[in-house]
Amino acid sequence: VPELPEVETIKRELTPHVIGRTITSVDIEWNGMIREITSERFIKRMVGKTITSLTRRGKYLVFRLDQNSTMLVHLKMSGSFIVVSDFKTAPRFVRAKFSFDDGNWLIFTDPRKFGRFHLTEHPEVVLEQLGIEPLETNFTPLKLTQILDKKTMPIKPLLLDQAKIAGIGNMYADEALYRAGIHPLKQAGLLSKVEITRLHRSIKEVLISAIDNHGASVANYRRPGGETGEAHFNFQVAHRRGEVCRKCATKLERQVIRGRGSYYCPICQPSE
Ligand SMILES: [Zn+2]
Repeated sequence: VPELPEVETIKRELTPHVIGRTITSVDIEWNGMIREITSERFIKRMVGKTITSLTRRGKYLVFRLDQNSTMLVHLKMSGSFIVVSDFKTAPRFVRAKFSFDDGNWLIFTDPRKFGRFHLTEHPEVVLEQLGIEPLETNFTPLKLTQILDKKTMPIKPLLLDQAKIAGIGNMYADEALYRAGIHPLKQAGLLSKVEITRLHRSIKEVLISAIDNHGASVANYRRPGGETGEAHFNFQVAHRRGEVCRKCATKLERQVIRGRGSYYCPICQPSE
């Protein structure tokens, strides 16, 4: 499932292929991914537009187009983008195709069909609901302290709340908590100052390391050139079902916390 590092990698690697490109045609092969407007209207409004910038906000890709339009894309469970110059090796699960004025195609694939496209003149309606960016300088230990203050919910689901911190999903929440030595069920408002400082640093470290390794290819995630990422090779707990802790050799535990399978080491992340 793409989280901040995967979306950031896609953004960085797509950028040279899409900036300044004019869209010459659009095919939508799964209407359900186009939100708010019909796919016919989406196509009509996209053709002829030029992509002026590509940024990331939380887990959203933000394609700015000329004429004050913005296409927001959420990859959800399994969406990915690839750039191709032909269809000799036709990708599977194609849901949308955008042809460009340079002859290349931007292809959106999505086996599970949960990906979402919003074409809007008011992207702030969606983006202003998102919390702080954990890799921005304004995400400080003090800011994290304020986010956690008096919260009675467990720390794990709080880290997944996109309205508080944007971009962290199940994998990197587990990784950050492991690195910080904090049990995922610990009540958020009861973290000590030392724990908050460790967690703040751990969040930044796991995300930066994962971006440096081009994201984690644990499921369908591929980079825009078709390569896999390598971030999952560094995972200490995420997706390590049935394995042991690399620090203390204790068998990792899995617990479903608010509907999300959570992995942790019962020794390195004590519940007391
Ligand atoms: Zn351990």
